[in-house]
Amino acid sequence: MTNIPDVPRAPDAPRPPEVPTTQEHRFPCDTCGGDMRFDPGDDRLVCDHCGHLEPLTPRTDAIAEIAIARGLDAGTAPQEETRVADCPNCGARFEFDPAIHAAECPFCATLVVTDTGTDRHIKPAGLVPFQLEQAQAKDAMKRWLGSLWFAPNGLTKYVRDGGRLKGMYVPFWTFDAQTDTAYTGMRGDTYFVTQTVIRDGKPVTVQVPKIRWTPRRGRVRRFFDDVLILASPSLPKSHTDALQPWDLSGLTPYAPQYLAGFRAEAYRVELSDGLEEAKQKMREVITRDVRMDIGGDQQQITGMQTRMSDVTFKHILLPIWIAAYKYRGRSFRFVVNGQTGRVQGERPYSAWKIAFAVIAALILAGIAAFLYAGAQGGFDIGGAGGGFGVPGGDRIVVRDVGGLGPANAPSWLDD
Ligand SMILES: [Zn+2]
Ligand SMILES: [Zn+2]
Repeated sequence: MTNIPDVPRAPDAPRPPEVPTTQEHRFPCDTCGGDMRFDPGDDRLVCDHCGHLEPLTPRTDAIAEIAIARGLDAGTAPQEETRVADCPNCGARFEFDPAIHAAECPFCATLVVTDTGTDRHIKPAGLVPFQLEQAQAKDAMKRWLGSLWFAPNGLTKYVRDGGRLKGMYVPFWTFDAQTDTAYTGMRGDTYFVTQTVIRDGKPVTVQVPKIRWTPRRGRVRRFFDDVLILASPSLPKSHTDALQPWDLSGLTPYAPQYLAGFRAEAYRVELSDGLEEAKQKMREVITRDVRMDIGGDQQQITGMQTRMSDVTFKHILLPIWIAAYKYRGRSFRFVVNGQTGRVQGERPYSAWKIAFAVIAALILAGIAAFLYAGAQGGFDIGGAGGGFGVPGGDRIVVRDVGGLGPANAPSWLDD
């Protein structure tokens, strides 16, 4: 029992000597010493204190796919170590700057006051740098909220003030694989038989559909490129799915400069679990391929055996802007795709606003009824020169004054 394999993050696993030093993604400005941050949309760092710019040398080397065996056999894929904090509320594990002693969890807005230690993990191979500035993300969020009715005032104000939108890199796995699937199944072809039935006491001929089943066997092959798997449970899948599509042609080889001014979340879905999820996704596609291959009007698949080869993976980071806030003890989130600006969010409803809207609608209906009664009596609300006059008894115009549409009007018009 001396040869316990080295599993990353097992709490008491002995650390091998070659552990890299803890990454700190801080880049002091040459001019003033302040922290520089990555400037979205441009390949450079910017200093907000003095305006100093520092171009990044774009890297053109291809992002290496890593053979899956190297990833599963922990320790042989390139590793890195970062200082992290675990959120006591939602469990998110994110980078923690030891210089700042407290931080709000980006995913649920809970205050996290201690760094939990270090997290040793497979190093990201690439990332999609932020394209969207914080201001653009704020605008996207405002537009989203503007389209919502009945949001509580607190929320409206929160969004107007910028809602402490944070830039986060979220961890993903991507998998490539060559697949070769042998299948057996049945192909169903529809045909019609002519039958004579008795209807209303008379014989009638009808066409009855039947299915002819014939056994099939065959092979389908497919190469999967970059099957994308979210490597963290911090955000509901519905959120991250809604942020798709990602343009992975925007992937850049990983360099810590891109993280300057942003946070990065550590993966919590292990590579092996990510691979299982990817296989599930591939299986769905292969099943469709098999159905196509069988053809006919209906298909039954009785057996499918897939051989995967050349399986490789990458650990990548994708950019999102996120604002988490608490409303009456519940956490809500907005997320904005940091590459495309696509927005997804959860929001509470204000019971008060809904109640007021109902009351307002009733008052409007009341006013309309009053105006109509006035018009019936020759009461002029607009004046002759206003262009909006309601000559006595003009029923059509009265209907427009209330703005309530015909649904509310008929009982008044028909008297
Ligand atoms: Zn500076
Ligand atoms: Zn949290």
